[in-house]
Amino acid sequence: MVKMERIAVLTSGGDSPGMNAAVRAVARTCMFNDKECIGVKRGYEGLIEGDFITLDHAAVGGIIHSGGTILKTARSERFKTPEGREEALAQMKKAGIDGLVVIGGDGSFHGAKALHDMGFPTIGIPGTIDNDITGTDETIGFDTAVNTALDAIMKLRDTATSHERLFVVEVMGRNAGFLALEVAVATGAEYVVVPELPLSIGDLTKRLKSSYRAGRSHTLIILAEGVMTAQEMREQLADSGGYDARVTVLGYIQRGGHPTSFDVVLATRMGAFATENLMIGKSGMMVGNINHKLVLSPLERAWSEHKSLSPEMLSLMNKMN
Ligand code: ADP
Repeated sequence: MVKMERIAVLTSGGDSPGMNAAVRAVARTCMFNDKECIGVKRGYEGLIEGDFITLDHAAVGGIIHSGGTILKTARSERFKTPEGREEALAQMKKAGIDGLVVIGGDGSFHGAKALHDMGFPTIGIPGTIDNDITGTDETIGFDTAVNTALDAIMKLRDTATSHERLFVVEVMGRNAGFLALEVAVATGAEYVVVPELPLSIGDLTKRLKSSYRAGRSHTLIILAEGVMTAQEMREQLADSGGYDARVTVLGYIQRGGHPTSFDVVLATRMGAFATENLMIGKSGMMVGNINHKLVLSPLERAWSEHKSLSPEMLSLMNKMN
């Protein structure tokens, strides 16, 4: 049986709403099992520097609904080197830490896997608004980001309808279209342009032309940032069809705000599940929520297996248009 008396938790990479709820769940699960919980500040950078705080009951009180992460997050180039990771390991040994929970995206999971390969018990929790991680149906923060975008776009929609305009809204998602597709269905947008399914501007203008001919007076296009910028699309629409599109870039507002109840519950479930599995000796795994059930899968699945957009959601876009 592995010794697991003191468990550390860190948040790494891009922040996402719900990370605090996950940190709280890890800490409270430790306490429930009479274990100690240590918070690592600023992700792997803080791990290398030994920037640790004790997460007792009070330290995680009142954070369940707050956005961002109380532990802060950072990107660490040093941690990508074997020397940096050895330093991190030495800091954890010195502090008597027996296991680590990493909350972050696939970059952070690469780091977690490297620690596991060095023999250090490590488990990952997927926290990113992009939802681009295989091994889970939803990542923590995705639902909040969709709702934040929905809220902003519904306000734009009022103007689009009143002025009979063409709007292009650029949403985040890195190289994946999960956020864009979900937002497009939720807002009732006319078109979605995602990296997984390239749509040429020529095709788009052809479709716009026929829909205007059929009497449509306003159009909303949701564009994933991984395809091009909204400004580039605006220029291309003007060049190839003479369209005068209004563009909006939602940007970082999608990463902020209070998590939705869905994300708070998901983060709480995942935090407890990760900690309990670490305590029974599981390592090198990530937590996932598949068909509403919590499961573990190897960390490397997050980057070695491609996660596809739902064909059902894609066909819905066509059916509803
Ligand atoms: P995300 O976790 O949101 O995908 P990043 O890709 O920026 O964010 O990764 C976060 C951090 O994870 C990096 O700054 C680095 O410290 C660590 N990391 C990323 N890739 C590796 C790797 N191949 N080996 C070790 N650590 C890594």
